[in-house]
Amino acid sequence: MARFRCGACGRKGECEYDGDRHGCPLCGSAEVVFALAIEEVPDELLAALSSLETDDEERDED
Ligand SMILES: [Zn+2]
Repeated sequence: MARFRCGACGRKGECEYDGDRHGCPLCGSAEVVFALAIEEVPDELLAALSSLETDDEERDED
């Protein structure tokens, strides 16, 4: 289960997280934010996030 909060309809709750669906379960808006429990995040996604952080350090944003 994942918690979500929707910026469009203003509702929040819990739903079954579906990695293929990124819209609000209630209204379908893309303004929804999902808060996954860390245990539910696949290892490959954590690895991807880690590599993003590394990539960010290498970027020169001056
Ligand atoms: Zn919504």
